[in-house]
Amino acid sequence: MNVLVTGGAGFIGSHLGRALWQQGHHVKVVDSLVGGRKATIADLLGQPRFEFHQADIRDFARIAPLFADVDWVFHLAGLADIVPSIEQPRAYYETNVSGTFNVLEAARMANIKRLIYAASSSCYGLAEQFPTPETAPVKPQYPYALTKYLGEEMVLHWAQLYGLPAMSLRLFNVYGPHARTTGTYGAVFGVFLAQKISGRPFTVVGDGNQTRDFTYVTDVASAFIAAAESDYVGEVMNVGSGGTYSINTLVGLLGGDVEYIPKRPGEPDCTFADTRKIGEKLGWQPQVSFGQGVANMLAHIDYWRDAPLWTSSSIADATVDWFKYLDK
Ligand code: UDP
Repeated sequence: MNVLVTGGAGFIGSHLGRALWQQGHHVKVVDSLVGGRKATIADLLGQPRFEFHQADIRDFARIAPLFADVDWVFHLAGLADIVPSIEQPRAYYETNVSGTFNVLEAARMANIKRLIYAASSSCYGLAEQFPTPETAPVKPQYPYALTKYLGEEMVLHWAQLYGLPAMSLRLFNVYGPHARTTGTYGAVFGVFLAQKISGRPFTVVGDGNQTRDFTYVTDVASAFIAAAESDYVGEVMNVGSGGTYSINTLVGLLGGDVEYIPKRPGEPDCTFADTRKIGEKLGWQPQVSFGQGVANMLAHIDYWRDAPLWTSSSIADATVDWFKYLDK
């Protein structure tokens, strides 16, 4: 297949592009390099059947021609992280919502065969049902979650109205080698691995008993491919690890000292996907255990050598707006 991966130089997109390329597909990466880094695809650049295009999904005229002759589109480009989304909602709207609109229109005009959207489990907000099924109420807590959800609504609308052969995967706490290390505070693995390299204590939020459905990135890549190979249109499916793991468990696997920082408002005590739907419909199952996944990250720890080093006081400064707006 001719496949196009938006955000293909980002964390998840780079793993997906690599998996598709290894399966023999022709892979075209479209990435603005705002959050993505060429380092994540250094092994693929210059290879046959692999193309890289630096282009921003906000620029329809620039991206639309890239969709010609494409069979499968994987739409992973977007802005991540909570705090900057509170501070700059317009930027999140323009990339995650208007950008998704551009991708959908380009895909529709090019008559693509499949489009798979990377949605976020943050749409569930403070869920009340665990494991959380796709039918749980949607309650976004901040503009990142809202804009990713609006993008999903548009994907489903394009499927319903225009018959675009699209579906959406709601990803739960994806982790693995090349996990994001942008300058902004967020995503626990980048924070903790930089702290480990520097011999600094892990900044554990609250009592560390909160749990997350940490899902290994190669499992997520295989879920995208299974979704593309299927015929499901207009469906939403959770992608999770099948378990949920505490921050204290993570710290135990990483090994190191701990300092505790205040619990953050609006943050769930648990995320845990109900993955029965994707298991039944796509036959997809996660393969990588949490212990194995963390060990794989430690084996690649050098990647985080130039990641920002967060301390309890710099986190306090960086999360002022988080506490200001979510502490109600
Ligand atoms: N976390 C932590 N220390 C940090 C950053 C995060 O203990 O410095 C915890 C946080 O409380 C949450 C988990 O790690 O339980 C995952 O946080 P992340 O921001 O990666 O994802 P999200 O909270 O959006 O699921």
